[in-house]
Formats: sequence, structure tokens, C-alpha cells
Amino acid sequence: MKELEERIAREGTVKPGNVLKVDAFLNHQCDVALFNAMGAAWAEHFAGKTITKILTIEASGIGIACIAAQHFGDVPVVFAKKAQSINLDGDQYVTRVFSFTKQKEFPVIVSKKFLNAGDHILIIDDFLANGQALAGLIELCEDAGATVEGIGIAIEKGFQGGGDGLRAEGYDLDSLAIIDSMDAETGTVAFRA
Ligand code: 5GP
Repeated sequence: MKELEERIAREGTVKPGNVLKVDAFLNHQCDVALFNAMGAAWAEHFAGKTITKILTIEASGIGIACIAAQHFGDVPVVFAKKAQSINLDGDQYVTRVFSFTKQKEFPVIVSKKFLNAGDHILIIDDFLANGQALAGLIELCEDAGATVEGIGIAIEKGFQGGGDGLRAEGYDLDSLAIIDSMDAETGTVAFRA
């Protein structure tokens, strides 16, 4: 998606350790018009698929998923939580994943009330790196007996391999910008053609 690539090139910052900072428009300050265009792009890609629910993970996925849902007939958005809370009552689907940016393990939790057999799920998230977060969300869908119809990602760091692994497994993965390489010293980002 040209518009997203241009924003990354213009406003993104490459940090040491292969971290791209896009907090000016994606995961601190939110550009809602851009989110809307991203939702339209996913709706075009996944047209013809039945989506009954969008699943994402807190925090940055929530805003993107909620705007995107309006392009999928206002389906509900469920976000996985990363910490236990007294507000999380009843049975839960739980797994644990390793966070690339925080370099530590955390739980991924969804109440059994909100993920069901018979759900046709579109997973949406802001970033795809090694694929840990998505592996956790996919596992919860499998536990629930729900079908993962597709995965929509804003920014895939292609050089970290998570996306290619998911494609090899047969998932319909639509990443709107795929980064092939980036350099913290020069600040340059190269996109997959
Ligand atoms: P993965 O689990 O695929 O290795 O990493 C994906 C998760 O880590 C995303 O949910 C995102 O929150 C975070 N993440 C991974 N790489 C980056 C990055 O370069 N920049 C930012 N802002 N978040 C990242």
C-alpha cells in the first residue's frame, strides 16, 4: 500500500535492534484516515470471504481493528489481553508468547465467551516480525474451534521471517507494507517490491 510505505519512509524511525518506530501515525498517535484506508485495502483483499469477527491483541491492534471492522459489516472486534485482571471472569483461552519488542514472555488471553466454534476470524495486527504474537492468536482460535480466514497486517518486517512462515503454512496473509531491510545508522527502509 503506497500511502503506508510513504508514511513509513517519511515519519518512521529505525531503532537499533531492528525496531521500527511509527508512533507518529500508527501506535501512539493514530492517523484514523490512514487506518480507514488500511481497512478498505484489507476489505478488498479478503472480499468473498465470510468474516464474522476480527481478533487482535492489545494495545496497538485495537484502533486499527476497530476502524477496519467498519469495512467488514461492523463485525465485532475482540482483542486479546496481555495480563490477567479481576475483570477477566470465567473460562479463558490462554497461551504464552515471547514479545520481540519487550524481550519477555507474556500471556495472551481471550474469554471463552468471545471466541467460538463457528466463528470465521480475520486476525489484524500492527506489526509482524517473528510471528510469535500471531502464533498465539492462531492457537487461541484453534482452541476455540474457530476458523482463521485470513490475517491482515499493517507492517511486516519480511527479513524476520514470520510472514513467510505463515504463508508457507497456507495462511492468507495480507501485509500492507513489507520491509525487506532497514538500517538504523542511515535510517533507510527498503520495501519488498
Ligand atoms: P512478533 O511476535 O511477530 O515477533 O512481533 C509482533 C509484535 O511485536 C507486534 O504485535 C508489535 O507490537 C511488536 N513489534 C515487533 N516488531 C516491531 C517494530 O519494529 N516496531 C514496533 N513498534 N512494534 C514491533
